Amino acid sequence: MGSELRLRQLQFGHRARLVLSPAEVRLMNDQAHAARTMWNCLHAWWTMLPKDKRTLAAADVAIRQARKEVDFFAVLPAQAAQAVLKTYFQAWKNCWEGRADKPNFKARFRSVMSVDIPQGRDLQITRVHRRWGLVNVPKVGRVRFHWTRDLPVAKKANADNRITGARLVKDALGWHIAFRITTLEAGPAPHQGPEVGIDAGVNIPLALSDGNHQNHGRPPRLRDGTSDRDKWLNAEEKGKLRRLERQAARLKQHRKPGRQSSNRLRVVYDQIGKLRAKAKRRVTDWQHQTTTFLARQYGVIVVENLDIANMTKSARGSIEEPGKSVRQKAGLNRSISQEAWGRTVTMLTYKAARYGGTVHKVPAPGTSQRCSACGFTTPGSRESQAVFVCRNPDCGLSGNADWNAARNILDLYRMGHALVPAAGRAVVRRARRVKPAAAR
Ligand SMILES: [Zn+2]
Repeated sequence: MGSELRLRQLQFGHRARLVLSPAEVRLMNDQAHAARTMWNCLHAWWTMLPKDKRTLAAADVAIRQARKEVDFFAVLPAQAAQAVLKTYFQAWKNCWEGRADKPNFKARFRSVMSVDIPQGRDLQITRVHRRWGLVNVPKVGRVRFHWTRDLPVAKKANADNRITGARLVKDALGWHIAFRITTLEAGPAPHQGPEVGIDAGVNIPLALSDGNHQNHGRPPRLRDGTSDRDKWLNAEEKGKLRRLERQAARLKQHRKPGRQSSNRLRVVYDQIGKLRAKAKRRVTDWQHQTTTFLARQYGVIVVENLDIANMTKSARGSIEEPGKSVRQKAGLNRSISQEAWGRTVTMLTYKAARYGGTVHKVPAPGTSQRCSACGFTTPGSRESQAVFVCRNPDCGLSGNADWNAARNILDLYRMGHALVPAAGRAVVRRARRVKPAAAR
């Protein structure tokens, strides 16, 4: 009985690459453009209407009418059109509850192309090979996708363990399908593993307080001290990227102001996008593997509470007041080398919860200047970015600066300075610039 009570529902996504013919790609592009246009029309309609007429039911009627009267919208399946309305309404809810800015128009080239398939039963997934599956995409037909993990389909599917829907998403590497999966899993027993402090380091991507650092062997900085933003590409790919960037700059010179980019320039941009997407895929993979290892290994994980957006802003300064001090510059370098720190924390939080552990955040200031052995703090304690040397004559600790910071982070937690524990998926709250009442 006891074990049954601990069962809990888990929802997660799985992204698979689709293999499409050029005709199928065109069909999906058309659907995505129609979905985006639908969003834009809906937004124009919603913001134009008097407040008392803005209802979900009225929006639903408007969408049905638009699908009947505008040929362009007919390529979009009815369910996908409904999903546009649903996400649009959710966007306003997120705004009213202070999680996001007001929804806005979606620009053709700047927004992610996507189409929703809200009903899991429409998908009709079958496995045809060890590495291939077939999935039904409404108004496109049956298409092939890379089968890389066990999916709850056919006999393996039941009421508690199934695919509830999917979303088609296009990135620089082509169309993908993201399945929404829900499963019932036994809740984990509390994790008995040790406590650990983690610092998003300058020289080590993730420095651990017990010295068990996590490194990907790609130096975060170049010899001249600047950060290497393309460190996830190999030498050949870096060379190709440089060449493409030079080519794009040259083609851009010939573009007249206010005119569209040439087809050749667009092709070059696409190639640059592909390389960047490849790099992002590599870093995400490393983050997934590392955070899974950490969540399995440790019961209590303590991290700094960093405000990356503010750190970058203060160091960069504005045009009127450019950031000038060395400390601010160090802050900028640090935040860049933090390797998508926010995403690492999000992953750690949900993975720790899955293995029965917890993630705690402690206030960041001072962790790099305090000595973790004697507690002596001086702004001048850091000899260089890499080495920490304690200025207290009775102590004289010297060691890796990132490791020292990680130990400080754990100390802060043990002294009871943890902020509200992050539970479940981290929700980012933006600063409220508009009062909810005014946003309506
Ligand atoms: Zn000391």
